Amino acid sequence: MAITERDPGQGEPKRFLVECEGCSFECATTGREEAERIGDAHRGETGHDLVALELPPSM
Ligand SMILES: [Zn+2]
Repeated sequence: MAITERDPGQGEPKRFLVECEGCSFECATTGREEAERIGDAHRGETGHDLVALELPPSM
């Protein structure tokens, strides 16, 4: 899974939007590991490819 990070390796956990390229699945989550976990789980269930985009800090 491709994970886009603007500024790796700093500070608090980042928020990611995990999006599926094969269906309408998407899930916002916190932390790169959690984004990978969600992506791996969906890919394991469906065989779809996913991407995780870093979200801007919450307001
Ligand atoms: Zn999917």
